[in-house]
Amino acid sequence: MKNDCIFCAIAAGEIPCFKIYEDENAIAFLDINPASRGHVLVVPKEHCRNLLDAPGALLAQLVPVVQKVAAHLKDALPCDGFNILQNNGEAAGQTVHHLHFHIVPRYAGQNAGIDFTPRKADMDELKTLAARIDMRNGD
Ligand code: AMP
Ligand code: ZN
Repeated sequence: MKNDCIFCAIAAGEIPCFKIYEDENAIAFLDINPASRGHVLVVPKEHCRNLLDAPGALLAQLVPVVQKVAAHLKDALPCDGFNILQNNGEAAGQTVHHLHFHIVPRYAGQNAGIDFTPRKADMDELKTLAARIDMRNGD
């Protein structure tokens, strides 16, 4: 547990939340500023800052919880679909620096305000970029 971490405090039961799931390693609770009805956060009990900071074993336990909670929400709310969001770093919008997955239920015809705006790619730019970040050559 990390001092001054709100999600560590929630996981320890020191700060109240609307909990909907708990097991040995994770909890899920309603987001206090929901992007849509039934917006849930899935949080590991162990503190890690973000995806890159998380041990593989923790992720191997956590991702199935995200799947289980999402499947439950789809039936129990019910909703028509859902987005999984996971912010890493302030530039990406992370405000609580304890790893968490957002499950944002989606309802047909309703905008949750989280859509990407695609733009047409420049093929030369993609080619240069792909060469720069290609991971297949051993590094
Ligand atoms: P992020 O921007 O990905 O770091 O998301 C953090 C989320 O935590 C935000 O959507 C907040 O609304 C939510 N949040 C912060 N404090 C609480 C709290 N005490 N209970 C429930 N959700 C919270
Ligand atoms: Zn924490």
